[in-house]
Amino acid sequence: MNTYSSSPRRVIVIGGGPAGLMAAEVLAAGGVQVDLYDAMASVGRKFLLAGKGGMNITHAEPFDDFVGRYGARRDQVGRWLDGFAPDAVRAWIHGLGVDTFVGSSGRVFPADMKAAPLLRAWLHRLREAGVRFHMRHRWTGWRDGRLVFATPEGEHLDAADAVVLALGGASWARLGSDGAWVPLLERKAVEVAPLVPMNCGFDADWSEHFSSRHAGAPLTTVALGLADDAGRIAFRKGQFVVSATGVEGSLVYAFSGAIRDRIAADGQATVFVDLLPDQGADRVLEDVLHPRGSRSLSSHLQGRLGIAGVKAGLLREALSKEAFADPRALARALKALPLVLKRPRPIDEAISSGGGVRFDALDEASGMLRALPGVFVAGEMIDWEAPTGGYLLTACFASGRAAGWGALDWVRGGESI
Ligand SMILES: Cc1cc2nc3c(=O)[nH]c(=O)nc-3n(C[C@H](O)[C@H](O)[C@H](O)COP(=O)(O)OP(=O)(O)OC[C@H]3O[C@@H](n4cnc5c(N)ncnc54)[C@H](O)[C@@H]3O)c2cc1C
Repeated sequence: MNTYSSSPRRVIVIGGGPAGLMAAEVLAAGGVQVDLYDAMASVGRKFLLAGKGGMNITHAEPFDDFVGRYGARRDQVGRWLDGFAPDAVRAWIHGLGVDTFVGSSGRVFPADMKAAPLLRAWLHRLREAGVRFHMRHRWTGWRDGRLVFATPEGEHLDAADAVVLALGGASWARLGSDGAWVPLLERKAVEVAPLVPMNCGFDADWSEHFSSRHAGAPLTTVALGLADDAGRIAFRKGQFVVSATGVEGSLVYAFSGAIRDRIAADGQATVFVDLLPDQGADRVLEDVLHPRGSRSLSSHLQGRLGIAGVKAGLLREALSKEAFADPRALARALKALPLVLKRPRPIDEAISSGGGVRFDALDEASGMLRALPGVFVAGEMIDWEAPTGGYLLTACFASGRAAGWGALDWVRGGESI
């Protein structure tokens, strides 16, 4: 066991994802010595992975629309964003020497769509500012007022004037954020909403026949919708993928919070797929009813409506034989094919997680835990969620900044823990 010496104004940040790194930046710029601990061998692993498929870092839509993406938490997340709005995120990236561009959907990407150059420049700036990095230090709780870390060399204890916890959610545990912090905080009377998958796929319990033929097939240019209590379906266009067990991909992720909650309430959720979103229902019915002579129904649908491959497979999979043989039911299904989703995929596979430290457990302005004065939280470990599209990273950056400012005020006020 060893102990680092404690200086009068020193803050420990645990977790080197975007939220923790941002808190470290604010603190170091404020003249505080920052020691950043992370369980992994290097920081920002999820951030780097996010950059693999084309890092979407924020969104260029109007601020009101942007804040609306946080749903029930729009007010709380909005307060973080008041301090670091999407425009400020872009300016900050430019300040690191990385250009950004706005895609046709309004999504904002770093110039080469990669996270690595950005992270490299950021870590360089943090080191220059004096941030000390302690890798392979897994925080395991408190003992006698000190933080306990498990390291390959044994146990390490440390204490400082304030602590920022930025431990992430519970998806992709192999990148570091495994949700193991939940019981550590609950033992300290911090209320935590259960961590649940968000931006995740769902199981549909496909037949072996369908799964073996179509797993991995993308459904491009379709629309997806969930019915509201009055049975109205608001469709959204996009694309998703048939997986071996169900559905996944951006269009499914966009509905994933609502689908997950409906499954939790009702045991399953029915989503509706419009297989022909660019054609009106009347036109589809006309085409289905059009005399087909000796052609089979399948080649008729392919010839007149372009329904083939995975679209045709899905129609067969989800529709009863009777409905398939009834032209009106078939035409209705082409515009709103019901798919029954049984359960979300495991949280470890999700892009992000919902749930986490409840806002009631925080002083909202500073991110300080009410039950643990001097301990601040930031990022995905707090109870908010958002769709993909840059909303996750932007909120993590903004809450990291808020927690950094909160901890800075705390140590400047002369308090220590
Ligand atoms: C495949 C994928 C693609 C994504 N793409 C995008 C995207 O394009 N746009 C977007 O906005 N978001 C995207 N995200 C989401 C985004 O990466 C996360 O929301 C974000 O990284 C969360 O930041 P965080 O700092 O809160 O937590 P994390 O990035 O998860 O960092 C938490 C850190 O805490 C450390 N840690 C955890 N527990 C301990 C402990 N006990 N002791 C010490 N250290 C610990 C971890 O090692 C980790 O380094 C994507 C996520 C995934 C998985």
